[in-house]
Amino acid sequence: MSDRCYAIGLLLTGTTFFIGLAQALGGWPFLPPESHATDLIAFNVAAFLSWAALAVAARVARERESAAIPLALATVVLYAVTLAAFTLFTGPFGAPGWIGFLGGAVIGYVVFPRWVSLAGLFLYVALVIVGAQAIATGRFDGTMLGPAARAVMVEESAIVRGAISTLLMSGLTFTIIMWIIDRWRDREARFERLATTDPLTGVANRRLLFDQSKRELARTRRYGTPTSLIIADLDHFKTINDRFGHIVGDRALSHAAAVLGDAIRDTDMIARYGGEEFGVLLPMTDLDGAAEVAERCRTRLADRPFASDAGPVTITASLGVATTTGKDGSDVDDLLRRADDALLRAKATGRNKTERG
Ligand code: GH3
Ligand code: MG
Ligand code: MG
Repeated sequence: MSDRCYAIGLLLTGTTFFIGLAQALGGWPFLPPESHATDLIAFNVAAFLSWAALAVAARVARERESAAIPLALATVVLYAVTLAAFTLFTGPFGAPGWIGFLGGAVIGYVVFPRWVSLAGLFLYVALVIVGAQAIATGRFDGTMLGPAARAVMVEESAIVRGAISTLLMSGLTFTIIMWIIDRWRDREARFERLATTDPLTGVANRRLLFDQSKRELARTRRYGTPTSLIIADLDHFKTINDRFGHIVGDRALSHAAAVLGDAIRDTDMIARYGGEEFGVLLPMTDLDGAAEVAERCRTRLADRPFASDAGPVTITASLGVATTTGKDGSDVDDLLRRADDALLRAKATGRNKTERG
């Protein structure tokens, strides 16, 4: 989220810089010619500095997760204030403010939690209504108004009427946009699930195991906390297929995945690594801890036979365990290779056992 705030901060720093530059060079096209150039330059300088400060803060707080929500809030509040001022300068509810509002609402809704973008939206609306009323009642310098606002300023109440109808329109547009984005997010989440889940057993697939392992190993290299990996290969699984057929074999595989998944912690991750092989990623776990988890997996599997139509079928597994603390420079392939070597030893020396790599 900090990266998104940083990107928005940079974008708005650039935007306010160019608006200020255009104004200094002879007028920004959206602004009425009689605008007080000095006021606008002062506003632009304030907006430019605020956005630059936000971009710097977002960069500095990049690694800190606790800063994410305060940064997101600061971003939407600053955007609401900047856009409300811009809207009032260019004429309340004229096209420029309207475009900035819709753009901000859509981007805010995509990149921030819903309540954060809604908070910014309400703040913007409140600021514009209060500002428009101040203009209509002469409490705010009317010469700053753009053509759109001046056209409806024939009556004092016209701005408020304009505000309400425009807000209803924006409410409707925003609702439609939210609905479209929600659908798009659902689809994306569904595709993501399909791309990372093994369809037979419902556990993660090897792609997710690799991605997650890479992330964990980066953490291990940076902080020196150990990461371990277990590979479990079901013993003589071919005979289960041969005896009961592939459909029962498939169900036995799902059973094994469920039992193994039950035996690990929430922070660990199980994935189907190959046909009847599973990988378990254990963050912040050393070799002893991982061997203990592997033994728990092994005994649970042996103790909970699969209930086939022909009666209980005991399934056992051989497991290989490997670990790294980052000092050896191991990457995912190295870790897998070591776990695999250990697994082969477990197979060669009798099966239904755990070996350390
Ligand atoms: P070992 O103890 O040496 O591991 O013996 P094994 O029979 O388990 O090993 P092998 O590699 O010879 O055979 C793996 C078997 O796993 C053969 C294959 O039919 C079965 N298998 C792999 N994927 C699936 C699957 O998706 N469904 C079913 N039913 N069986 C599968
Ligand atoms: Mg195998
Ligand atoms: Mg096997």
